[in-house]
Amino acid sequence: MKISQRVFVSFDELCPYQCKHCYTYGIKREKIRTAEEIVDSISNDRFDIIYVSQKNDNFSNPIKGLNLCRMLFDRYNCNLFIITRNVFNDDEFKELEKLRLDMRNTNKQIFIAISLNSIDSIGVCEDVRKVPTPKERIDFIKKLADRAFMPMLMLRPVFPNNIIPIDECLRIIDRTYQYVSCVVSSGLGINSDILDRLGMKEDDFSYNTTQEYLQGAIDCEIKFINVDYEIDKIRQKCQALKVPMFEHSMPALNYIVETLI
Ligand code: SF4
Repeated sequence: MKISQRVFVSFDELCPYQCKHCYTYGIKREKIRTAEEIVDSISNDRFDIIYVSQKNDNFSNPIKGLNLCRMLFDRYNCNLFIITRNVFNDDEFKELEKLRLDMRNTNKQIFIAISLNSIDSIGVCEDVRKVPTPKERIDFIKKLADRAFMPMLMLRPVFPNNIIPIDECLRIIDRTYQYVSCVVSSGLGINSDILDRLGMKEDDFSYNTTQEYLQGAIDCEIKFINVDYEIDKIRQKCQALKVPMFEHSMPALNYIVETLI
């Protein structure tokens, strides 16, 4: 199985987590669609995986997100990729396992990525009252690994070292590398709204000219801060610990498909 075409689906509500670095608040929303309308919205698209990720953390309410996954699978019999900052309780985890079992019976996979980019500095970019702590997310990664989900560590967005020390990213890798299938990491994207929320200024940084990982996911203007130094550090760490590292999720998914499943 080669994964080459993806499509994005998402709930339309604004994400309740309110991360300061989040680009989704700039995405236009015509209306709040029902789950059925969201499922219908990709009926004319060609794809071999559905990213349940775009305008929201679709698993801030895990059962609601998993119900959407179930509907997508029932309709399209397709692979699914979910990305979240949340952790699931036991009942939610059982639902996830049921869905995986049904998908496997038709030779389809559900891939899971947990987002985390810092430890002590998490308040720089997230509202710590709203999102599970870094420790809770690391524990959830372990739980997923224990149940053979092969979770992906979504180590992004990477901030410049003077804002979030790169050492925190390296410590996350130290604490998770035995449990994750791979690490996906890339830099912070900003626009004026994001800079305002972060309390930063455009002139404080240099920028990369291209960044492809959000292609197809967003239609708002984003500039990517140059964090080549920090990404190199992450790459070196992953190499030292022999955990694969990617800057985009599609090669990471194909790595899992080709080598781990
Ligand atoms: S969890 Fe994701 S979608 Fe929600 S606010 Fe944070 S970055 Fe944005």
